[in-house]
Amino acid sequence: MPEPASQILVVNSGSSSLKFGVYALEGVEESLLFNGAVDSIGGSGGKLKLKDENGKPLAEKDSNAKTLEDAFKSAIDALSQAGAGTPVAIGHRIVHGGPHLREHQRLTPDVLATLKQAVHFAPLHDPPAIAIIEAAQKHFSHVPQFVCFDTAFHKALPEIAAHYPLPQKYWEQGVLRYGFHGLSYESIVRALGDRLPARAVVAHLGNGASLAAILSGKSVDTSMGLTPTGGIPMGTRTGDLDPGIILWLLRSGLNIDQVESLLNHDAGLKALSNGESDLRALTKSSDAGDAPAKLALDVFTRSIAKTVASYAVSLGGLDLLVFTGGIGENSVPVRKVVCSELEFLGVAIDETKNLSHAESISASGSKISVKIIAADEDGQIARHTRHLLTS
Ligand code: ADP
Repeated sequence: MPEPASQILVVNSGSSSLKFGVYALEGVEESLLFNGAVDSIGGSGGKLKLKDENGKPLAEKDSNAKTLEDAFKSAIDALSQAGAGTPVAIGHRIVHGGPHLREHQRLTPDVLATLKQAVHFAPLHDPPAIAIIEAAQKHFSHVPQFVCFDTAFHKALPEIAAHYPLPQKYWEQGVLRYGFHGLSYESIVRALGDRLPARAVVAHLGNGASLAAILSGKSVDTSMGLTPTGGIPMGTRTGDLDPGIILWLLRSGLNIDQVESLLNHDAGLKALSNGESDLRALTKSSDAGDAPAKLALDVFTRSIAKTVASYAVSLGGLDLLVFTGGIGENSVPVRKVVCSELEFLGVAIDETKNLSHAESISASGSKISVKIIAADEDGQIARHTRHLLTS
């Protein structure tokens, strides 16, 4: 194991979960040493899980973490018991930094203050990240910290994609398309390296899902917008809606918090299927003849295919389609249906390769290459943190 002095801690927090990883800084590559997660923070039945670099479980125990800080403490205790050292730097994943924080950077008191002011752009995602930053500052007061933004990859979105049709004063207040999952998209661009063609669409399909149109390595359009609630329908989020629906809901008596909760936690596939947001479970129910589950899947796959087709417009054609995220990497039927809806564009996949989750799943005659590539958001944070630490 490398010297403890050459390790980076990566943390990625949700409202009730904390994911973490430790990377060794040896040679040019950052290599994963440990990763783990604490779930159900503040609730019951939560677990802390820790794995080694090969995915072998090292620890699994009940977690009674009441707060994100408790979860952070239990994660660093577990890491220390497994032999991890004090990190030389800590990298945080931040979903939204608002209009003034669009680049990965070192955390300073000013950056933290600006991040706190941006919380209303991502009220569900940023507060837990800030709580973890403050816990990390408390526990590792001398360790430099870095913030990596999901919006950074889309920073240079052309105005034709970023501008909403609203009066200019709102653009000036930061009401624009930011786009998210940027660390995932960056990791795909990096993994492809020289194999990235000029016109690519990446579909990051997980509980949260978005697509990006990537022209010569740069984001030129993306489905999520001002917030990660927009775009295609997701596990529990609506995706794009007629804005009149939100007005209707407000007029019908729901307050802002209720509307926010409805749009983020009780919509999407969960709403269409009468309660199920998990893709695996939906696929099973649909196969067993459950009509609402089938409708949820049909709406999901149609939205993905429509977005890919519309990005062929943004890109002036399409050379490559990449599937990533928990669903994109694992769901044979989602990839199959999306690709069959895109046959008219020249997409053809090889059923056997799709079944075996091969890296390249396009059929030999396909005009468009189709690949499955695992997203590596944490590795990307470790890379940025290392680079920023040493630059
Ligand atoms: P998050 O956005 O929370 O990071 P993930 O990328 O982990 O989400 O994706 C979670 C989704 O991936 C769930 O809907 C889950 O059902 C789906 N998924 C995970 N494994 C499989 C699988 N083997 N087959 C189909 N779907 C899967």
